[in-house]
Amino acid sequence: MNMLKIENLHATVADKPILKGLSLTIDAGEIHAIMGPNGAGKSTLSYVLGGRPGYEVTEGSVTFTPSRHAGLDPASIRSSARDVRAEWTPDQVRGDDGGEAIDLLALDPHERAAAGLFLGFQYPVEIPGVSNVQFLRESLNAQRKARGQEPLSGGDFLKLAREKAGLLGLDMDMLKRPVNVGFSGGEKKRNEMVQMGILDPTLAILDETDSGLDIDALRIVGEGINAIMRKPDKAVLLITHYQRLLDYVQPDFVHVLAAGRIVKSGGPELARELEEHGYAEVVA
Ligand code: ADP
Ligand code: MG
Ligand code: MG
Repeated sequence: MNMLKIENLHATVADKPILKGLSLTIDAGEIHAIMGPNGAGKSTLSYVLGGRPGYEVTEGSVTFTPSRHAGLDPASIRSSARDVRAEWTPDQVRGDDGGEAIDLLALDPHERAAAGLFLGFQYPVEIPGVSNVQFLRESLNAQRKARGQEPLSGGDFLKLAREKAGLLGLDMDMLKRPVNVGFSGGEKKRNEMVQMGILDPTLAILDETDSGLDIDALRIVGEGINAIMRKPDKAVLLITHYQRLLDYVQPDFVHVLAAGRIVKSGGPELARELEEHGYAEVVA
């Protein structure tokens, strides 16, 4: 089933064209890696998919079809979205499991999150004055509300938080501190993966989650991503500069993004080829 189908996406930032006809299809159960030179548009792609203000789509479409097993209440999320089922390609119809097909670009950022999209950022923000526990509980309950579900009780939430923090080797004391304030690079990324575990997304887009991680943190984060997201009804888009994260989170497909488009796609071997020979040679 095509969980994410990006077709001919064009986007501008401050009137400057950055994405120039990007197409990419991700099926449920798959992990895709996007690599590419600095300034290629990798972060722009994640912001556009997340609906960040200032990133304007000028052409193309993005369809998001969370599995029906994601247990969403479609009516609560679909209100502002157009059902694009009528426009499906034969490929999409064949793999259909009855999940909602959503025009992702018609949704507000919080609706995209409620529909099951999670964005991990290259530079996680610090929020002084708000504890991690508060922040995580509020993000989860906002998502539950948008799905028409009751908020989780304090006790149930703490149980969930403890379980996910344990998975990422983060101590509960870290969760009581203000969000990311004074956290090391590795702690911020592990913290973000705890958030991902709690929100339990259908599709995670992780932008340079490996940046600033030492070898041990890299392994913990990699194993966390696998534990949370390596499932038949989930998918991951990993944006990374380096092959090393891919030793832990093994991608099914690797793509090269250059000058706003996917210019080459392959299997895991493509990442090693890029690492060895550089983008210029592999893409030429
Ligand atoms: P990558 O993540 O692949 O390194 P980005 O998506 O961050 O690339 O950036 C792609 C291009 O968009 C770069 O040339 C960058 O300078 C430009 N860009 C990004 N944000 C802005 C902005 N707010 N205003 C103008 N140009 C921007
Ligand atoms: Mg970059
Ligand atoms: Mg970037």
